[in-house]
Amino acid sequence: MIPGNFEYHSASGVDEAVALLAEHGENGKLLAGGHSLLPMMKLRFAEPAHLIDLNGIDELRGIREDGDALIVGAMTSENAVIASEVLQRRCPVLPETAKLIADPQVRNRGTIGGDALHGDPGNDHPAVLMALEAEFVVRSQKGERREPANGFYLGPYLTRLDDGDLVTAIRIPIPAPGHGYAYAKFKRKTGDYATAAACCLLEMDGDICRKARLTLTNVGPTPLRAEDAEELLTGESITPERIEQAAQAAMSICEPAEDLRGSPEYKTHMAGEMTRRALHTALERARGG
Ligand SMILES: Cc1cc2nc3c(=O)[nH]c(=O)nc-3n(C[C@H](O)[C@H](O)[C@H](O)COP(=O)(O)OP(=O)(O)OC[C@H]3O[C@@H](n4cnc5c(N)ncnc54)[C@H](O)[C@@H]3O)c2cc1C
Repeated sequence: MIPGNFEYHSASGVDEAVALLAEHGENGKLLAGGHSLLPMMKLRFAEPAHLIDLNGIDELRGIREDGDALIVGAMTSENAVIASEVLQRRCPVLPETAKLIADPQVRNRGTIGGDALHGDPGNDHPAVLMALEAEFVVRSQKGERREPANGFYLGPYLTRLDDGDLVTAIRIPIPAPGHGYAYAKFKRKTGDYATAAACCLLEMDGDICRKARLTLTNVGPTPLRAEDAEELLTGESITPERIEQAAQAAMSICEPAEDLRGSPEYKTHMAGEMTRRALHTALERARGG
């Protein structure tokens, strides 16, 4: 319940936050919504000496279209993601996912950036951002770079971010109009992390699948991209047999940890079931259902 002592810094701009991060190195932590970091500090799993609060930086919030991409500020809250008219129209899988994250109070504080960057395999946004082929826009004292979400997650709480890196925004190529989408999440109760979840994005040409993206949450040390399953679907008509083959391919890459949510066998089985459901829903939506 009681966190260790720390010094608090309220950054008023991105440059100031980056300078503070550089000054404090591995002893400094960015504070976004605080709903993963503060619980860890209260249990003394994390004891940063310096907290650099991003909440005073307005330019880190908001959602806009920029040519063929959507730019979502890292500090955009989950509730703002849910309410976004642009996202509902252009990229509805993001609001669908955000509705399944935590509860209303947490979603008022928790940010899409904090969720995507924490590195907890239980977080829901990472797999969805992988399916969307999103990129993180990263600022540090060395300048700006982009890190694709695919390849970003290296292990539990381990990503391609270094000490000193601040993500300003998430850049999402706008999915093709009329694409099918779904995030299917199996959980014990509202506000719980997934026992298993699957994200599916489909682009169809009539009955033929032009492009498929399939990713999984919380059934491995990182979010997983089921590339073999994607290949099985691409260029084919999506029959019940092919959905079953894709589910089996997705199950074959699962390496879930055993915990109170179940055994590895059970979680793998549920990952297969979530894959089937996500595929069915995405297909129906792509067909205008
Ligand atoms: C009761 C409860 C239930 C929850 N259920 C779910 C759930 O079902 N699914 C789910 O996905 N999540 C869930 N969460 C987690 C919640 O959504 C968190 O808010 C989220 O994971 C972290 O976002 P945050 O903005 O609170 O980040 P913080 O806790 O402030 O930060 C998390 C980490 O990200 C880093 N970080 C934050 N912003 C940046 C940035 N711009 N650049 C670089 N690093 C940054 C921080 O330094 C820290 O290491 C739950 C939380 C609670 C308390």
